[in-house]
Amino acid sequence: MALAVTHILLTIFVLDLFRHYHFGKKKFPRYLLVVGGIAGLAPDIDIPLSFIWNLASGNVDSLHGAFTHSLLFVLIFAILGFYLGSSASFLKSKKLQSKWAAIFYVIAFGWLMHLSLDCLYGSYKLFLWPINFDTLAFCPDIGFLQTYRISIDALLLVGWLIHEEMHGLVKDYW
Ligand SMILES: [Zn+2]
Repeated sequence: MALAVTHILLTIFVLDLFRHYHFGKKKFPRYLLVVGGIAGLAPDIDIPLSFIWNLASGNVDSLHGAFTHSLLFVLIFAILGFYLGSSASFLKSKKLQSKWAAIFYVIAFGWLMHLSLDCLYGSYKLFLWPINFDTLAFCPDIGFLQTYRISIDALLLVGWLIHEEMHGLVKDYW
């Protein structure tokens, strides 16, 4: 699997590119990057969940790669985003509708980024849970990503820093 930093950083990096080149700062407030970064790691909540489950049950099960790594969650968050942003939404003001739609779309995107990275890094996960389907068949076998995952983290971080500095954006973080 990809490292936690890769999951968070790459999601923020891609969202930041969309923010910078497509949506603009007004339409894409900075907190959405934080939401996206957390969503980019969220499917691995099954690691602490396994720990709690085993502590409570006395078992030694691993829930990692099971249900939270399903595309079903991506679909649910995308549908929630669509519903909240539509005229059928229970949210009354247009402003609230677009705010919450954006939040759920970003969560869906971060979640999808996580599953895509796990797939690229060649880990076996139940991407189609609750359907028990052998996803190894369509995940490419790119073993070197797994071997060089620490270097990939470093390159991503350097690339992002250079991008931010080139656009004079490092001050955005202070
Ligand atoms: Zn994962």
